[in-house]
Amino acid sequence: MRFPLALTMKIASHIVKHKVRKTPKFAMVLQLEPLHTCNLTCTGCGRIREYSTNLKDMVPLEKCLAVAMECEAPMVSICGGEPLIYPKIEELIAGLLDQGRVLYICTNGVFMRKKMRDYLAAIYTAETEPTLKKLVEEKLISEKEADAIRNANDAARKKVVIRPTKWMYWNVHVDGLEFTHDLIVEREGVFKECVEAIKMAKICGYQVATNTTVYKETDVQELEDMFKYLSSLEVDGHTISPGYEYDAAKKDMVSRLGKQPEDFFLTRKMTRQKFAKIEQWGKMFTIFGTPVYQEFLAGKRELTCTAWAIPTYNVKGWKAPCYLMTDGHYPGYQEMLTKVEWEKYGVVNGIARDPRCENCMVHCGYDPSGALGTNYQRGDNWKNFAYNFGAKPKPFPASPELVKTAFNGVTIGKGHLAEAKAVLNSPRAAMNGAQATFRQEAATNQHEAHVGSHCGTGDTSERDELLAKIKDVKK
Ligand code: SF4
Ligand code: SF4
Repeated sequence: MRFPLALTMKIASHIVKHKVRKTPKFAMVLQLEPLHTCNLTCTGCGRIREYSTNLKDMVPLEKCLAVAMECEAPMVSICGGEPLIYPKIEELIAGLLDQGRVLYICTNGVFMRKKMRDYLAAIYTAETEPTLKKLVEEKLISEKEADAIRNANDAARKKVVIRPTKWMYWNVHVDGLEFTHDLIVEREGVFKECVEAIKMAKICGYQVATNTTVYKETDVQELEDMFKYLSSLEVDGHTISPGYEYDAAKKDMVSRLGKQPEDFFLTRKMTRQKFAKIEQWGKMFTIFGTPVYQEFLAGKRELTCTAWAIPTYNVKGWKAPCYLMTDGHYPGYQEMLTKVEWEKYGVVNGIARDPRCENCMVHCGYDPSGALGTNYQRGDNWKNFAYNFGAKPKPFPASPELVKTAFNGVTIGKGHLAEAKAVLNSPRAAMNGAQATFRQEAATNQHEAHVGSHCGTGDTSERDELLAKIKDVKK
């Protein structure tokens, strides 16, 4: 089977239950954002720019558990911000699993290995030794870390930890191969860390998924290479979605300057071009998402947005109308369902009901439409059934060539900062202070990436200042 039977049955029975009851709108996946603090400042991340990233602004654990009960979604995607920074993340995961939810921990991967070392320390017995040995051999933990696991104190052994279970996936953010991914997350070394975390997770028995956003600049061949590489690591599934790039300023430029939208953002037409091979990828790799949604992405059919099926809860409440756009926050899920004028959103028969929806084809708006039978066409149920119950694609064969293709950035000295470093090493750069700024930035980044003790605020001013100085030097 492509996906675990227990998971498929849980989701199918949830849909059937609501269809029988004729519930007009219900939740399929809760996007739970317990905090918006993050250790990275990815280009295009709306969260760290829209919301406060202060660690004080968090949804309390009890409230997180209560909102999951309230909306009754069978699946919960814990996102943020970086959810592994949430101080009660272990308790939150344990509580949601107790409620019988299927969990996706959407993470940038940087703190995953630390959380898995905590798990190994809590469960350590002589039987854990072969796992530790393998992790050391593969350089996924150091000898010192292995010893710390062996000699864990009582507190570490009693700690609530994130354990492998068939009901949970690590869902690692990977937007391309090494060069591209590090560029998008604006830090060199993050792709490598993600790969090491994925390898460690598989050795420890966790399920691992990845999630990828496709941008205007995304190269389709690179996406396919990325899936091949991730598949060779035996990743259990992949979510892929077009980026949402509505921006008032861009829209304004279109109307005032007469520029084409294609110059600025991913239009529906461009999304369909980028996703032309999605159905083929669905056969080669374990792509999450219904075949109906895949047909929609490939431009073969229309769907109506069902954003109410993937509601978002964060520090301000239930976010409406969707994960991407904010027209308001509501204290209750049912209240949001009742008060939001859903017919004002989405694209119907090619006409955008809200101009901001015009180019949106994101999975959190349209993937549930495929599962829920919106715009049902004859044969859809069979397609969904055949996809879910069909054979799982075999892992792509691992090879040195594939590894070479994947590590095309900082590993081979071609990281996105290489050019900046070269410029900054020039005598002219020394004169205007750019080197000092760069060194300060690099030292901070190194500390964050390897020690993980500092949470970024989302403030990009230092980086912007650095880039301005580099530009000056280049003139
Ligand atoms: S990892 Fe990147 S995309 Fe995710 S919350 Fe942090 S800054 Fe945003
Ligand atoms: S079409 Fe996209 S932007 Fe519009 S409401 Fe649906 S998910 Fe949100």
